[in-house]
Amino acid sequence: MQDREADRLVAAAQDGDARSLARLISIVERGETDIRAVMRAAAPHAGGARVIGLTGSPGVGKSTVTDRLVRAFRDQGHRVAVLAVDPTSPFTGGALLGDRVRMSAHATDPGVFIRSMASRGHLGGLSQAAPAALRVLDAAGFGVVCVETVGVGQAEVEIAGLADSTLVVMAPGLGDSVQTAKAGILEIADIFVVNKSDRPGAHEVVRDLRAMLALANYEGAWKPPIVSASAATGDGIEELTGKLDAHWEWLGSSGVRTERRVARARGEVAAIAVAEIRRRIGGAPERRLDDLAAQVASGKLDPYSAADDLLA
Ligand code: GDP
Repeated sequence: MQDREADRLVAAAQDGDARSLARLISIVERGETDIRAVMRAAAPHAGGARVIGLTGSPGVGKSTVTDRLVRAFRDQGHRVAVLAVDPTSPFTGGALLGDRVRMSAHATDPGVFIRSMASRGHLGGLSQAAPAALRVLDAAGFGVVCVETVGVGQAEVEIAGLADSTLVVMAPGLGDSVQTAKAGILEIADIFVVNKSDRPGAHEVVRDLRAMLALANYEGAWKPPIVSASAATGDGIEELTGKLDAHWEWLGSSGVRTERRVARARGEVAAIAVAEIRRRIGGAPERRLDDLAAQVASGKLDPYSAADDLLA
């Protein structure tokens, strides 16, 4: 793809052309060589979006909370994008969750863009595709981008690393109590949302979270608040947006926002470089690798020297 064509697509996306935007995201998702032109075109326009990550076990209400947040930020006049990342689904190259019925409330709103990404089998994986998609949405001029991911394994921690503010959503009655919460999940939260507070058991989830947070030492850093909400009715959503605003302000005044964004870019650059090295090694003459492997196996060469040889 020519740079001019990529520039044209980015400009069209900024003007609200959903088809151009969808095309840009598809290029990024497929990870083909055109991604380079797209990233070059997007880079000068990125940096303005506020990225909100949402994670939690399936069924806790992430999509419902996201839907409420979309409405709240729309009411404030922002263009809002939702990137739903499903690390468990095979790569399909299209909308998976994006056409969910409840999101259809926004279907006719040109200020809302919803897109799903599935990643299994994806070249370079989520660590490459998600930040690139985020940069495209950012460059397209969305004031707020919500990144929603289902809470499984490492992916959610990875996705949380992309966000300015991360919401960990929990709910009563799903068997995933605070005590059994996966390691890493509690650490990534900027705000805890105890959703389904209309259901029995919600108080206990809040109580357990409080007890757990009381043990942590935040020492002048941001102490994650706990918001009780019922996304189904809208209860607690105003409090949630208030906490999000407070966190956003804190990120700015403490300098942590810049720190996080640099850390995000660092991870992104490293992931691209590692993928490139993998590609090159994979493309190395088979005989060269076979030869080195035979030498290592027979003790003639140590594996580090062999690797150096391969990279050189
Ligand atoms: P996700 O898998 O985390 O995205 O969860 P969803 O947003 O799809 O919600 C799962 C189910 O919980 C759906 O049937 C929702 O209607 C329901 N739900 C979401 N929020 C609430 C809530 O606040 N209270 C109750 N009772 N149900 C809710």
